[in-house]
Order: sequence, then structure tokens, then C-alpha cells
Amino acid sequence: MLLKDQVAVITGGARGIGREIALTLARQAADVALFDVQPEILEQTIAQIRALGRRSEGIIVDVTDGKQVEDGVAKVLDKLGKIDILINNAGITKDGLLVRMDDAQWDRVLEINLKGTFLCTRAVAKHMLKQRRGRIISIASIVGLIGNPGQANYAASKAGIIGFTKAVAKELASRGVTCNAIAPGFIQTEMTDVLPEEAKARLMQAIPMGTLGSPTDVAQAALFLASEAARYITGHVLVVDGGLAM
Ligand code: NAP
Repeated sequence: MLLKDQVAVITGGARGIGREIALTLARQAADVALFDVQPEILEQTIAQIRALGRRSEGIIVDVTDGKQVEDGVAKVLDKLGKIDILINNAGITKDGLLVRMDDAQWDRVLEINLKGTFLCTRAVAKHMLKQRRGRIISIASIVGLIGNPGQANYAASKAGIIGFTKAVAKELASRGVTCNAIAPGFIQTEMTDVLPEEAKARLMQAIPMGTLGSPTDVAQAALFLASEAARYITGHVLVVDGGLAM
């Protein structure tokens, strides 16, 4: 039980990689609060976590809304007593080639992926600083490290998360709060299910390990960074990509 009685908040935790992280932390005895926007899926995931014998709260929070984020954090503190781990996972894509990308496509991706990460980290950091202990883990992407055609907005948001992570890691290190990022490659979720078969086949050829990753691969990396085993690691970007970015 690597996380006995610790409390984790996971944004975008209702499905995909976020849900897998939630279940993985709960199996290691953490209580888990999820911030997400769709009540029905949120309820299903909460039920799965409670079935593991852990406390779990699902809170409707749009991470782009500072007031909702502050209220959500206050609710977690009220119901679960503290926050030890924050996983900034909520993220979207709105792909398009640069010359055809409109302002709304750019703004929405930056707003959810990068501003959402800032708002949630700021809200939780206040509590972690007082507690003098905490783990902040943000889900970036290898696209933020190596770029990808058609994803200028997404790449900028994920590169932004990496810079943000390093600045916050330096600010909070002396107070026992670590801040790290995970950069997944291509992971099999609804986000990548929509890729055309041809694009998937091309990808497989480019990945040295020859397959897409699974949400579990990312969840295990998050568990490591959240655990005591990673106590001396901060400002790091852990790449989980089957060798793709190398
Ligand atoms: P996903 O299946 O689409 O899940 C994302 C979750 O975030 C959904 O539950 C979504 O809610 C929620 N969300 C969206 N906007 C939100 C908002 N404003 N406030 C709160 N929650 C919001 O995506 P995923 O593939 O699991 O990706 C999770 C993270 O990993 C993202 O940051 C993504 O960029 C990153 N990542 C994924 C891959 C990959 O290959 N899949 C690779 C690298 C990085 P809805 O159900 O309403 O959409």
C-alpha cells in the first residue's frame, strides 16, 4: 500500500488516462477526488473507486473556471480532510494545420490544457505549502517536446506545462512539495481511437517498442512520482512513449 490514506485530486479523472490513474492510486490505498465535467461518467468512475474500499468524491469542475476550481478544492478539503497529490490530467486536442487554425481552436486548447493546470496547481499549492508536503504531477505529452504537424496549439500547451512544472518545482521545493510532469507518447484511449487506421499504422512503425501504450503505463508512472520512492525527484519530465521521442 504505497499511498496509505493519502488524498489525491485528479482532473479529467472520469475516463481515459485520468480514470486509470484514479484506480491505480486507489488500489494503493489513496482516497481520490475527481474533477470532471460530465456527471454520468463521473458517477461511474466514483462507484468503481468506492468498490475498491476507498473514499471518493466526484465534483463537477471545469478546470478553466477559477471559481469552480477554488470551490472544488474547498469541497475536497471539507470532505476528505487534506490533499497530498494533484494530478493535472484534463486535456483536449483541437487539431488543424497552422494556416487553417482559427483563434477559437488555439484559445480552447491553451485554456483547458495550460490555464487549467495553472488554476488547479495554484489552488492546491496554497494548501500543500501550509502542509509542507505534496506531489503535483501534470500530464504533458511528447508532442510538447518534439512537436507534431497539425498540433501547434496542443504542442504549445504541453510545452507550456513543462516550463510551468519546472518553475513551480523551483518555487515549492524548499517546502516539501515536488512538481513533475509525465510526457506520454501515443496511448490507446478515446483521444487516439479517432486517428485513421493509416495514421495508426505509420505510428506503430515509428515507435521502437512497436505498439501504442496503455493508460496503465501512464498510471504506473504517476504512481511512482506520487510515491515515497520519488521523494527526491522534482522538476522532472518522465517520458512514457515506447522510445518514440528518442
Ligand atoms: P480523454 O479520454 O479525452 O479524457 C480527458 C478527460 O478530461 C475527460 O474526462 C474530459 O471530459 C476531461 N475534461 C475535458 N475538458 C475538461 C475541463 N474543462 N475540465 C475538466 N475536465 C475536462 O483524454 P486522455 O487520452 O485520457 O488524455 C488525458 C491526458 O493525457 C490529457 O492531458 C492528454 O493531453 C494527455 N495525453 C494523452 C495521450 C494519448 O495518447 N491519449 C498522449 C499524451 C498525452 P469529457 O468527457 O467531457 O471530454
